Amino acid sequence: TTVQSELIAAIRNIPDYPKPGVMFRDITTLLGNPRAFRRAIDELVHPYAGTKIDKIAGIEARGFILGGAIAHQLSSGFVPIRKKGKLPHDTVRIAYSLEYGVDEMEMHKDAISPGEKVILVDDLIATGGTAEAAVKLLKQMGADIVAACFVIDLPELGGRKRLEALGVNVRTLIEFE
Ligand code: IMP
Repeated sequence: TTVQSELIAAIRNIPDYPKPGVMFRDITTLLGNPRAFRRAIDELVHPYAGTKIDKIAGIEARGFILGGAIAHQLSSGFVPIRKKGKLPHDTVRIAYSLEYGVDEMEMHKDAISPGEKVILVDDLIATGGTAEAAVKLLKQMGADIVAACFVIDLPELGGRKRLEALGVNVRTLIEFE
């Protein structure tokens, strides 16, 4: 069995969540499966093994879990990108659009130094709006973005292309329609 089919089998599909017509891809079952969790992390990091990555930037909240494991594997630091109002020190903040309305995310101002090599991590890329905002924040801090990594890509929603148009190298492991 291929890595892809193993990961697909470990993801739980929840119909009509959070609203009718949406199929939610739930990675908590993958995280709870020791073999699938290890496989996902190993697959995400393998192109970067042996290269110096200063920081892994994880998007709240599932990006923290994956990003922490990836940071350990690559001997990198970890930086949280959080919903507004959660970080205690001085922050840089960016607004981004959701399907309905806008939200804001932020990072600590001193979390990344100019020129540091950074990998951005989240569980899933859909429209790419969330990841695009994170990329803009990282660029504002002078980060050298080596890649943006996601377990799941929903290619029909165009997120990968949106990040690639910003010059970001995108790595994903599996796709769903
Ligand atoms: P985007 O901004 O449209 O690319 O949406 C991606 C963000 O929404 C990520 O932070 C994901 O964690 C979350 N998300 C959207 N759809 C799903 C899903 O089916 N499963 C898990 N997370 C999702």
